[in-house]
Amino acid sequence: MKQSYIKYLEEIAGQDFVITDMEDKICYGYDSTRLEFMPDAIVKVKNAEQISSILKFANENKIPVIPRGAATGLSGGCLAVNGGISLVMLEMNSISEINTVDLLVQAQAGAVTIDVDRAANNCGLFYPPDPGSLKTSTIGGNIAENAGGLRGLKYGVTKNYVKSLELVLPTGEIINTGAVTVKSVSGYNIVDLITGSEGTLAIVTRATLGLLPIPKAKASILTTFPDTASAASAVRDIVAAGIITATLEFVDNVTINAIEDYLKIGLDRNTGAMLLIEVDGYEGAVQEEAEIVKEVCARNRCSSFRLATSDEERDRLWSARRAALSSLARVRPSTILEDATVPRSRIVELVEAVNAIAQKYSLSIGTFGHAGDGNLHPTILTDLRDKDEEIKVEKAIEEIFIKTIELGGTLSGEHGIGLTKAKFLKLEVSEDAYRLMKNIKKTFDPNNILNPGKLLIN
Ligand SMILES: Cc1cc2nc3c(=O)[nH]c(=O)nc-3n(C[C@H](O)[C@H](O)[C@H](O)COP(=O)(O)OP(=O)(O)OC[C@H]3O[C@@H](n4cnc5c(N)ncnc54)[C@H](O)[C@@H]3O)c2cc1C
Repeated sequence: MKQSYIKYLEEIAGQDFVITDMEDKICYGYDSTRLEFMPDAIVKVKNAEQISSILKFANENKIPVIPRGAATGLSGGCLAVNGGISLVMLEMNSISEINTVDLLVQAQAGAVTIDVDRAANNCGLFYPPDPGSLKTSTIGGNIAENAGGLRGLKYGVTKNYVKSLELVLPTGEIINTGAVTVKSVSGYNIVDLITGSEGTLAIVTRATLGLLPIPKAKASILTTFPDTASAASAVRDIVAAGIITATLEFVDNVTINAIEDYLKIGLDRNTGAMLLIEVDGYEGAVQEEAEIVKEVCARNRCSSFRLATSDEERDRLWSARRAALSSLARVRPSTILEDATVPRSRIVELVEAVNAIAQKYSLSIGTFGHAGDGNLHPTILTDLRDKDEEIKVEKAIEEIFIKTIELGGTLSGEHGIGLTKAKFLKLEVSEDAYRLMKNIKKTFDPNNILNPGKLLIN
């Protein structure tokens, strides 16, 4: 059967675009979780019609199909847990029709996030969702995960910018949904349902996305604190002081040291935690907001407060933040990154709870993230080849999740449930809501062929 369906895939996509050799397939068996599941075949698709033919065939023959962008996902979403066909979207990467009046851009699903932003920049506009992976991740993957980013506090996340979508349903139909107007209440909002559906309901082939004018002025700030709790309370107090910064990122001591080991950019290794902050808008307003941020940080015992004075310094600060995960990943053989998200008012309690859990299990946990959004990434640095260590890690993860929910939070702020958190979903979602989600899945995908084994597993 496999051999005959591979022949069929070659007929649809062309022999050069279907990969079945073990050696060539190997890198398609991973994503950024470093878990491994090998698909039977990989198809580099070029258009919605090809995807439609593949899905019709797969649906008739009950073959799993897994959409795959750049594989930067952190919940195992694009892994072929049951084998099947991995649909690689990277060939579909065109960006077109920037509309400077309606502030819109059209992009195919395989377009890289930063390329969409750069195309907009050429017209004086920008695409606000900026995940740390933006140099690699795709628009389709961002939509599937409802990706957030460093600018989330002021500008929101991917769902705030998805206007309309071209989709291929698991049964093969190609549909267009959504509206490019500022407002629309015509029927159920399928665009919002698909955004964040983790490639389990439909394959996104094209999107119309919203853009914004580039702010006139910006100020980037690096401020350090003697301990994590003071930094976390400064986060809470900045927003309570009425300042919605574009960016409000938290980096703890473990992460600072990992970044410094990797990049050697002169960060203070003894500092308890640092905040990276950016305010933007009109020149006068930016200066005024930076002053208020300074007062709030001083009130929270900051040990230093520095405004970047050049574009180079600003770029260095943000590169340091974007390197947080890769820096931590160098420390031990295994890196388990979580995505705990709480209401901003509870961020101090979350930081303290993570520190206590690290101590309780004698684990090294580096914490960084979009603190302004209440979204932190406690990252466990470990060695999962050591079975005792693995047991401790599992207990620590479960405790972080339970505490997050207790604090009124959510299991995933931006990385999705995917494979890695599926067994915990019922901690957060009621039985009734879970059943409703399963019914929605069944309506879209009656034979459960699209990305099976993810999100809803029981
Ligand atoms: C260093 C680093 C930093 C990161 N920083 C952030 C961050 O700041 N914010 C954030 O939100 N995430 C972040 N991530 C996680 C990741 O980059 C995002 O989840 C991103 O949206 C995944 O995009 P991708 O193209 O790599 O998708 P993949 O990993 O290839 O796939 C992710 C999911 O999307 C589905 N999918 C992919 N393409 C499509 C499509 N066309 N149609 C339907 N489903 C599809 C897949 O099946 C899978 O379920 C980071 C990851 C890394 C490695």
